[in-house]
Amino acid sequence: MSDALGRARRLLERAERVLFITGAGLSADSGLPTYRGLVGLYNGLTDEGIPIEAALSGSMLRQRPEVCWRYLAQLGRACAAAAPNAAHQAIADFGRRELGSWVLTQNIDGFHRRSGFPPERLIEIHGQLEPLACMACALPVADAGACLAGPLPPRCPNCGGILRPPVVLFEEALPGAELLRLHAAVDQGFDLVIAVGTTAAFAYIQEPVGRTLAQGGDLVEINPDRSALSGLATVQVRKRAVDVLPWLLSHIGG
Ligand SMILES: [Zn+2]
Repeated sequence: MSDALGRARRLLERAERVLFITGAGLSADSGLPTYRGLVGLYNGLTDEGIPIEAALSGSMLRQRPEVCWRYLAQLGRACAAAAPNAAHQAIADFGRRELGSWVLTQNIDGFHRRSGFPPERLIEIHGQLEPLACMACALPVADAGACLAGPLPPRCPNCGGILRPPVVLFEEALPGAELLRLHAAVDQGFDLVIAVGTTAAFAYIQEPVGRTLAQGGDLVEINPDRSALSGLATVQVRKRAVDVLPWLLSHIGG
């Protein structure tokens, strides 16, 4: 056991309320590509010669849905082919034991839900890849897998409108209901934030960290690489989540 891991474990043992903030690094251990790592990209540009951020934008979905859907479908197929890893499972098991624990995730793969983290304490701030719903008549379409196997963009069986997932595309606002849930959870205060595999570039990630530290709480960062949060961290664990979280969390509570 490294010294950093021992210190992280002691912080966990003391903490009553724990917020996990998880990003792409957590799901990379499940073999999932980030949106920048999708196949067919060259220097971040799509076959259409545009940045992937433009392809996966709200305006592209409205104006050229076949382009946006080409990359949404790649993400959807990659998520369907992968599975939550041991770190997701460790967080889910911890969450079922420790009723003061929450997850705020930037990931859209749904792996926290699939691994069984309690949904009432899970905030998916960038949305999810399913279920699909019609942009014209709002009809929900349960079988996203069948839609991905068919012609793109998938169309509504009711009115022929374009379907979309409840995901936050580039240019789109964060879901208001999820932001309210996040603010309510942060208002109750956290003793400890554990940042896992996130680059933490966004204000809505940095704010819960800042408020926790201002109230005397601690930050543990688990990431092989430094991030915008590293300078604030009480403890930095420079390892992959899948290699440390199962051990770290299995010793706490129960
Ligand atoms: Zn429709």
